[in-house]
Amino acid sequence: MQKKITIAIDGYSSCGKSTLAKALAKELEYIFIDSGAMYRGVTVYCLRNNLLPDGIPAVAEIETILGKIDLNFKFNPETKQADLYLNGENIEKLIRLPEVASNVSKIAALKNVRHKLVLEQRKMGNNGGIVMDGRDIGSVVFPAAELKLFITALPEIRAQRRYKELIEKQVETSYDEVLENLRERDYLDSTRTESPLIQTPDAIVIDTSDLTTEEQLNIALNYTLEKVQKL
Ligand code: C5P
Repeated sequence: MQKKITIAIDGYSSCGKSTLAKALAKELEYIFIDSGAMYRGVTVYCLRNNLLPDGIPAVAEIETILGKIDLNFKFNPETKQADLYLNGENIEKLIRLPEVASNVSKIAALKNVRHKLVLEQRKMGNNGGIVMDGRDIGSVVFPAAELKLFITALPEIRAQRRYKELIEKQVETSYDEVLENLRERDYLDSTRTESPLIQTPDAIVIDTSDLTTEEQLNIALNYTLEKVQKL
């Protein structure tokens, strides 16, 4: 049997990272982890517990309640995808709400939140055979990942894709709201002090602006094959 490697996929919001990571994991029979969903899960908890009054994280309080947040992925046989559970409750739909999208980057900038989630993410990928997408996977979570992909696309194309996705999921929003949110998150994610989004020197850049999902998958599969053959 071929050795199973660790694949880290990073990039800005809505570049197609999760779609590619999911397809790649399916094709390779690897585990797929959407690390962004975990930051969204913590944000859901904070919003519900009034830990983001006026949109500002109550940092000290958030630190004290982190131990009460239990996040788990469970396979959903209907959708054939993993749903995120927060303390036993399926929050897969909640984490995509615009209110969560507009607050998640503030929560993700907190040192202790990152510390907790990075530890959990590392545990999930201990044995290789994993595709994880996010912002700091190649730089912090799995710096020794055998394959690192950095995904980019033009902001307008990304906003159009995300808008279409949200409308299909019956989330009420507008194209302008989505574009504005992406720009804001990109800014916060790449300028924060704690593990900002960076392109590591060993990452391979894929611009998905003009690529179909199938083309993206083929490119990623070729890179994977190349890595596995060299092991
Ligand atoms: O990937 P997604 O857009 O769902 O991620 C939501 C947010 O979570 C990002 O905008 C970013 O602020 C944060 N995030 C992060 N590190 C990761 C994954 C996501 O900071 N590894």
